[in-house]
Amino acid sequence: MSDQLDEDEQPDQLEQVLGAAHRHALSFRSGVGERPAYPAVISEELRRIAGGSLPETGEDPLLVVERLATLGQLGSVGSTGPRYFGYVIGGTSPAAAGADWLVTAWDQNAAVQSSGPAVSVIEEVCARWLVDLFGLPGDTSVGFTTGAQMSTFTGLAAARHHLLARAGWDVERKGLSGAPAIRVLAGDERHASVDRALRFLGIGTEALVPVACDANGAMRVDALAQALNGGALDDGSRRRVTIVCAQAGNINTGAVDPITEVCDLAESRDAWVHVDGAIGMWATASERHRHLLEGVERADSWSADGHKWLNAPYDCGVALCAHPDDHAAAMSVTASYIAVSHHRGSDRRDQINWNPEWSRRARSVPVYAALAALGRRGVGELVDRNITHARHMAERLAGEAGIEVLNDVVLNQVLVRFGGAEEADQVTTDVIHRVQEDGVCWVGGTRWRGRAAMRVSICGHNTTTEDIDRSAESILTAFAKLGG
Ligand SMILES: *Cc1c(COP(=O)(O)O)cnc(C)c1O
Repeated sequence: MSDQLDEDEQPDQLEQVLGAAHRHALSFRSGVGERPAYPAVISEELRRIAGGSLPETGEDPLLVVERLATLGQLGSVGSTGPRYFGYVIGGTSPAAAGADWLVTAWDQNAAVQSSGPAVSVIEEVCARWLVDLFGLPGDTSVGFTTGAQMSTFTGLAAARHHLLARAGWDVERKGLSGAPAIRVLAGDERHASVDRALRFLGIGTEALVPVACDANGAMRVDALAQALNGGALDDGSRRRVTIVCAQAGNINTGAVDPITEVCDLAESRDAWVHVDGAIGMWATASERHRHLLEGVERADSWSADGHKWLNAPYDCGVALCAHPDDHAAAMSVTASYIAVSHHRGSDRRDQINWNPEWSRRARSVPVYAALAALGRRGVGELVDRNITHARHMAERLAGEAGIEVLNDVVLNQVLVRFGGAEEADQVTTDVIHRVQEDGVCWVGGTRWRGRAAMRVSICGHNTTTEDIDRSAESILTAFAKLGG
């Protein structure tokens, strides 16, 4: 093999390799609806194909891509198909997938405008669209992160700055050592990424004050009021340095915290409100379901995930903040080589100032594409359709003796338990395994209030009522075979 660049072959090779990737991608996507929702392959087989030692000399790029296509075909779950109901995983809509391919082809560093004006402007427009769609204050600032984990990190970093600056403490310069203590009130049904963000931020998980939730997993207002009144006053002022983390879309039940009441209480105590709306923020686009998030525009910061309900590809988290100065104080950077690389015009928005990453892909482009292809109404219809699917699934299953739907289906989540009181944990686990083996759909398991449950999460753009019926049949058959 020659390591000489052959000027004639290079364009050919790019065409060959991208052409192969294109063919394999289309073949995977067109067949995904009829493949088992979870692949039958075992990891050993995948390791045999992928493994071996690092090649000393490079391989033909076409062969590399062919091998990867084989691995993906053998060992990918059907999360872009219509009957994958695990975790909270949306598929990728055609517009978003096409946009993501362009992002790779352009390969812009979406950190600053001068390293890619087009993607910078697309991000700016997309940010405005999201603020509009969610119904947030017009000057809300937006950062595009890897996911809700880093969006919550960003929102809480802005909160940390705001609250401590108010108490006369410059946390960006001095850090947290010696700072007034921050306490964080969050439902005991919060997503674990809140705890992790507090670890990253040096606030620490001991700062958490868990607030009791109601039967469906939403924060109880009386418990929040009580928690807000408890605890010691901080040293410097009569104010407590408090963050309240509300949730829109419980990972198990879909429950939404009572945001208006949370904001009323927080406001009376000068607390910062962050809303983890990884799943639920999209419901603001629905006329029928927006009421669930009533008052959400009163919060101080928000997390949302494009890669869940919007059906954008991965790496599409959104961090929003009602206090752009606090957001920028926590995230912005200056560096000599950025400052002297100004693109023409002083109104530029450098993306790096709004998210924790430095170099990164132009992840807002597929979000832009998904929003453009759906429009406001389309996002609302997607949300409504999936909620109708979730309710239909719940009705199909709850109609059978020995099956109990554990949650009030408010969004896209259904929790199901199988079998009589004594052995229900075991039966439920067995049903989940059988359904997974059957391959018609994929559902995961969880523990809800100490009891095993099947978790059905519906957020695919290509899921139909027929898919719900086929999946319900598979679940009912699995239960029947276990003697249910
Ligand atoms: C998925 C999810 C997260 C984590 O989001 P990532 O995008 O995976 O980082 C946080 N909170 C809630 C409620 C979620 O559903």
